[in-house]
Order: sequence, then structure tokens, then C-alpha cells
Amino acid sequence: MKYRIIAATAIIAGTLAACTVNNGKSSGYEELDRWAEEMVQKHLNQLGYPVNQNSHLEGFYEWYIANGLDRTVMNNAGNPFDSTSSLLSSHKFEREVLKFFAPLYGFEKDKFWGMVSSSGTDGNNHGIYFGANYLYNTTGKKPVMYVSDEAHYSNMRLADLQNLDLKLIKSDDMGRMIPEELEKDLDPSRPCLIVYAMGSTFKGAIDDQKALNAVLAKHPEMPVYRHVDAALFGGYLPFTEYAGMVDHNELNFQSIAISGHKFFGVDDPAGLFFTTKEVFDNQSKYDIPYLNRDMKMISCSRSAITPLKFWWLIQKAGYETWKQEAGQMLENTAYLKAEMDRIGWPCWVNEYSNTIFFRRPSKDTVKKYYLACNNDDRFGGELAHIVVMQHVTKECIDELIAVLEKEL
Ligand SMILES: *Cc1c(COP(=O)(O)O)cnc(C)c1O
Repeated sequence: MKYRIIAATAIIAGTLAACTVNNGKSSGYEELDRWAEEMVQKHLNQLGYPVNQNSHLEGFYEWYIANGLDRTVMNNAGNPFDSTSSLLSSHKFEREVLKFFAPLYGFEKDKFWGMVSSSGTDGNNHGIYFGANYLYNTTGKKPVMYVSDEAHYSNMRLADLQNLDLKLIKSDDMGRMIPEELEKDLDPSRPCLIVYAMGSTFKGAIDDQKALNAVLAKHPEMPVYRHVDAALFGGYLPFTEYAGMVDHNELNFQSIAISGHKFFGVDDPAGLFFTTKEVFDNQSKYDIPYLNRDMKMISCSRSAITPLKFWWLIQKAGYETWKQEAGQMLENTAYLKAEMDRIGWPCWVNEYSNTIFFRRPSKDTVKKYYLACNNDDRFGGELAHIVVMQHVTKECIDELIAVLEKEL
């Protein structure tokens, strides 16, 4: 009996402590409440990873719960453009989201196919898979895949997963695929599946599509499929004067993958994938009558909530806000670069990029700002980078510069 009373008192004390911490919105589990408090406290300090901590999702969850959707299981399995199954889904809103974004990447209204994917990697998986199948189904030959050695690791992983012959092409010091190296490694006797990195992971390098396309054009007989891995930069570039760099019409790529949880600020892993109808129609068919017949995508179940979040963001932020944010991000990137130069801290940035890499500061600073680290002897060895996203303001940069100045 005595033990029980003590236990009950401990639970009440725990709950009370959690209540004060979370403004009365305790879960009843102190451990969970403390963790939530810590996450919220830390989120604006996170500078090393490409996520937008100033999302416009406010109000989404209140609406969702107030309308009883938290007790309704939905699933967007199947083709959002051919939605005839009786599954509860948000396909209607997924289509609206895709129709909003497709023109931003130069895809024409009636000539594209797309989906809200589960991540940038999911989009790359589809780009590489669709590309390999398109080339095989239209030429009868298996392609060779080419990607730079600075591209995001998912591309190498996916080539391995899909059992493709992969050639890693050397990049220059700043991380861009070298056209002469592509020329040297190219096997024109087989179709070419090339993945362009629009934002290499650490240095933020953008492959020069025009120069690389000129190399491919020397072999007019070689069938080519171009996939663009634009997970991070594909978010903000359409809203800048450099929009042409992610334009299907201008650059003649066949598919593109963009992350939703980076620039756009979906609060959970998410993405967009676009390709042409022609590519989609040249995939192997698997007719599944009990879904909606046309299952060309790799995953069966897909989130019904993510398209709703994207749709919400289009209403609450939309073109004008994203344009303003993209401009501000590039301005703040230039400001951070100028401030590092002013105090004499070695740093580098690629053109069009919001990613600055620099000599690695102390362990404490790396930890405090969640900086991502790498090594490169060409730049003096130990490096760190900052990705200037929406929450990385001038005030935040000033604070960091003051910290770095003390370490000089
Ligand atoms: C972030 C990133 C990825 C991986 O995307 P996820 O959405 O995290 O799966 C792939 N490529 C590039 C260039 C990236 O920046």
C-alpha cells in the first residue's frame, strides 16, 4: 500500500513538471514532453542541414484534428492521375499540387507525369528506374549510368540496388562533374543514363548541364536519358533569376527529383517527382485491378497527408512568399560569405548555391550549430558547411561570426 502511494505521488509530480514545461499541454509522459521542449529550443540553431525551420504549416494540425482526420486512415496508393480505386485518398489534392509545381520545372500541362514522393531519394529511385527502363524498352539495350563522384550518395546506392553498370565521373575541386572526364569515360555503344547533381551534398556544386550535354551531343546515335537530382536546389531555384537551370524545356532532361522537407518546409520527409508522359508510358506494365490498374510506381502505399501539407503550403506561402524567401536566402548566403571573408576565415561557395563550406571551427561550435563536417586536403583538410535556409537570418549569422572571431 505504501509503495503504491509513493508511485502515485511520483506520477503526479512528473506530470506537474511536464505541465509547466509545456504550457499545460502535457502528454502525461514527462520523458516525451522534455524531449519535445528540447527539440523546439534547438530548432533555430540548426545550420548544417538543408531543412527549413520556418515552415508555413502552422494551423495544419489543428485543422486536421478538428475535422476528425486523425481518426481516418487514408492512403494514396496508385497513380494520382488515374484514381478509380475505392481507397480513401487525397489524390485530388495531390493532382492540384503537381499541377502547381510542374510548370515551375518547365513541364507542360498535358505532357507530364508526376507524384508527391516520400523523399528526394524516392524521386531519384524513380528517375533512375524509369530512365533505365525507358532506355531498355525503347532500344533493347541496357544503359550505362553516369554520375559525378561528388553527387549525393543515394545515386550510387540506387545504381547498386538496381544492378546498373555505374561510371563515377571525376569532379573538379569545387565539386562539378568535369566534361572532359565524362567524354573520356563515355561508352557510346550503349544508351546513356546520366544523373546531374543540382547541389552536390557537401560543396553545393551544380553540374554544368549545358557543357555536359554538349559532350553527349557528339554522339547523336547514342540514346540519352537525363535525370536531375535537385533535392535541395530544385526547391529555391525556380523562384530566382536562375529558374532556367531546373527547366525541362530549356535543358531537355527527362525527370527531376526535389525534396519537400528542404526548401518547402514540409515537416516530414517528402518530395516531388516529375517526368514526361512519354517516359511514363514506356515503363513495364503491371495491371492490378483491385487498385487502379496502373501500378508503375515502385512503392504501393504512399502518404495521403503529405500532399495535403504541400497543398496547405501552396495556399499559405505560394509563389510570392517562396520567391521572397529564395531571394533572402541567396542574399544571406552572400552576407555570410562576406562576413567570413572580413574576419579572414577561409570559406568557399559555389555559384547559385546557398551552401558555404569553410575551415572547421572548434568541436563546441560544430556541436552548438549542428554543423555538418567533411575532409578535403585540397581545401586544407578539416571542413564544415552551413546551408543557409529560411531560418538562418542575419542576426543568426552575426552571432556565429562573433563566435568564430573568438576562435581566430
Ligand atoms: C538531400 C539530398 C538528397 C536526398 O534527399 P532526401 O529527401 O533526404 O532523401 C539527394 N540529393 C541531393 C542533392 C540532396 O541535397
